[in-house]
Amino acid sequence: MNLVVDEVVSLHSDNLSHVFHVPTSSLYAMDSETMSILEGARDGLHTDQSLQKLTADSGLDPAEVEDIIDNLVKLRLLVPPGETGNRGPLADRPQSGRSMGNLVLHVAHTCNLGCGYCYAEQGLYKGKATLMNEERAHEYVDWLFDQCDPETKSLGITFFGGEPLLNLKVMKSAAAHARERADTDNKSVRFSVTTNGTLVTPEIVDFLAAIDCVVTVSLDGIGKTNDRLRPFHSGRGSYDLVLDRIQPLLERGKVAARVTVTRQNLDVVDTVTTLLERGFAEVGCSPVDAKNPAYDLRGEDYEVLLDGFGTLSRRYIDEAVQGRKYGFSNIANIIKAVHQGHNKDYPCGAGLQMVAGAPNGEMSLCHRFVGEPDYVLGNVKEGGIDSHRRLQILEDIQLSERSDCSSCWARYICSGGCHHVNFLFEGDPSRTYLTHCDYLRAWYRMGLEAYAEIMSRNPEFVGEFIDPGFLCNQ
Ligand code: SF4
Ligand code: SF4
Repeated sequence: MNLVVDEVVSLHSDNLSHVFHVPTSSLYAMDSETMSILEGARDGLHTDQSLQKLTADSGLDPAEVEDIIDNLVKLRLLVPPGETGNRGPLADRPQSGRSMGNLVLHVAHTCNLGCGYCYAEQGLYKGKATLMNEERAHEYVDWLFDQCDPETKSLGITFFGGEPLLNLKVMKSAAAHARERADTDNKSVRFSVTTNGTLVTPEIVDFLAAIDCVVTVSLDGIGKTNDRLRPFHSGRGSYDLVLDRIQPLLERGKVAARVTVTRQNLDVVDTVTTLLERGFAEVGCSPVDAKNPAYDLRGEDYEVLLDGFGTLSRRYIDEAVQGRKYGFSNIANIIKAVHQGHNKDYPCGAGLQMVAGAPNGEMSLCHRFVGEPDYVLGNVKEGGIDSHRRLQILEDIQLSERSDCSSCWARYICSGGCHHVNFLFEGDPSRTYLTHCDYLRAWYRMGLEAYAEIMSRNPEFVGEFIDPGFLCNQ
């Protein structure tokens, strides 16, 4: 016998013990005997003597110990010394021929709000205010369908900005063209939009309903908190107006809120609770990355945020155990990732399954990289993505190239964090921005413990409510 414990993290919640197998991102429930054998084998089982000592220490029958060890070997938690860290097949290898399933269409590089932390510089993306024209929008739609392989039956288009509703005419035209192409090509097309909500009218509500569009509204708090963070250029607040205008959308259901968390709106429990009460189907919170000390979180702020996430996660678990869904999407996303066995070299779909298209025809790694010349993958006017360039960029930013993440237990769930955050703070998406890693690891641990508890108390819940797709965490 010559076995060692592979890289694992022990988790304990609600009197349950689990181990998380780092190389495969697998989570296993442990009974106390199995846990004690695994713990007892921490220094390795290299000789018959070490096995005898383990058996004596455990107080178990030798045959029982052998059974447990056999099971641990099957789960790859105990492995021969030369076989540690084997990840198995990965789901997200970039391939030259692989088509993109999702297009983020930047129909408007301009915005009627002036949020101080906006990564897109109030929608301008380092350029001047522009609206995408109809011809360009159709070129993008045609490119999406033309490059798509025959097996891909469903394509996604996200209308994005700036504020996309400033270019409703082109949204409508692009949607109509995409539907025609879907009919001709025997595919389906899904639409989504991320909007500040200020321009919603009954006509827009009808249009979004007609194309079955999933709507995400950006809101950064309740009342005056949101008004301070998301003002019009005149300085006037936007909260009451947004809630009023989107009411018919909320009544339709399926509207999500996206909260950018800054130093100024750390009370995520109040924000999420109130927005869910106002009728949002789900609310997701994402810490800001503005490179601006007035907004960016620091040490103690992350503790407040994690505390709030802990309260919301507890609510999520309690509802899940009863078979109900609580609309805190952060925890839903992490549970989805763990359930799908997220063991990836990339944190998101940027450049793998999705690309962003700017009004000038440039196609970028993702919506946040628009306007960054080094991350342009091609131009829709010149045939679309340069596959060689795309593969080169993807190779440079993959997790396995990152020594900074190589000893982090969360590396195959986190996959090195958002490329754009790394780019913003480190000047290069292939270099890890380590400042918020303690927060990330604490959050992933919370998510794993939530998943473990739900799986042990109501396993049907996870299969019932988890939908596919994990494109962007930001
Ligand atoms: S938590 Fe930090 S060190 Fe760990 S994988 Fe994510 S970015 Fe890398
Ligand atoms: S996680 Fe970051 S890099 Fe990935 S799609 Fe979202 S913003 Fe872009």
